[in-house]
Amino acid sequence: MNLGINGKIALVTAASRGLGRGCAEQLAAEECRVAICSRDSTTVKQAAEEISVKTGTEVLGFGADMSKAEDIGRLLEDVRQALGEPEILVTNAGGPPPGTFASTALEEYEKALNLTLMSAVNLIRSVTPAMKTKGWGRIIAITSISVKQPIDTLLLSNMARAGLTGFLKTIATELAPDGITVNALLPGTHKTSRIDQLAQHRADQENKSPEEIIQEMMSANPSNTIGDPSDFGAAAAFLASVQARYITGQNLLVDGGNYRGLI
Ligand code: NAD
Repeated sequence: MNLGINGKIALVTAASRGLGRGCAEQLAAEECRVAICSRDSTTVKQAAEEISVKTGTEVLGFGADMSKAEDIGRLLEDVRQALGEPEILVTNAGGPPPGTFASTALEEYEKALNLTLMSAVNLIRSVTPAMKTKGWGRIIAITSISVKQPIDTLLLSNMARAGLTGFLKTIATELAPDGITVNALLPGTHKTSRIDQLAQHRADQENKSPEEIIQEMMSANPSNTIGDPSDFGAAAAFLASVQARYITGQNLLVDGGNYRGLI
């Protein structure tokens, strides 16, 4: 299927590796004009170069930390100057650290909200005026299966993503008349360095190896495996497509069938 988005300007944040990169690769494969960011400008430029070679579409990399509002402002200025106003935005940021209610210090809450919730609010506020003028836009936020089923050891992530989900659902209604769709993509378990980090955390607690934990994650999934970033990126590319114009305000799980709830 031709997704009808070749030439569209796309910004994917926190995308030097993992799920963000999976989304950037699929959008570049659709011949979008893609900008990516992550904290380290050397790493992100290298990642952009690798995606460009792999897809045959030039991708630009910019250093920006999603926990810092000033970096987000500068990133948008750089992208506007290099490519123009983003028409497709995929918001992502590294997840907050694992922890429970007992182990989490008060100052960690605000940091998590800045990283996971306010970065998306800030990015979306920046790109929507131009999307409204064009009467077309696609906003996709990477959240988590935890918004349907909180994960015991990820208190901060559960909290911040729930807030983001409420924000997205509210603005989806407000922006629909302007031709802008707003959806969340919910990863289940995908093989990325975030999952390696969480597997190490569980391994330390349960006195197992990280490989055993990953194997347990695979066996517990109805598909007998965990996803990879390209499974995830393909769903993002579809939500960004012309054909997805009537899908908004949704939370789409990409989890191999792991979530057992009805809705
Ligand atoms: P990852 O660690 O593989 O990649 C994270 C990317 O974000 C990297 O490019 C990193 O450089 C960048 N990054 C991290 N902190 C940043 C910051 N402050 N500013 C800018 N860039 C930053 O992680 P991932 O698995 O791709 O996860 C992406 C998001 O999805 C995270 O929020 C994670 O918690 C969430 N998630 C992932 C899974 C999974 O199975 N991988 C499941 C549920 C939720």
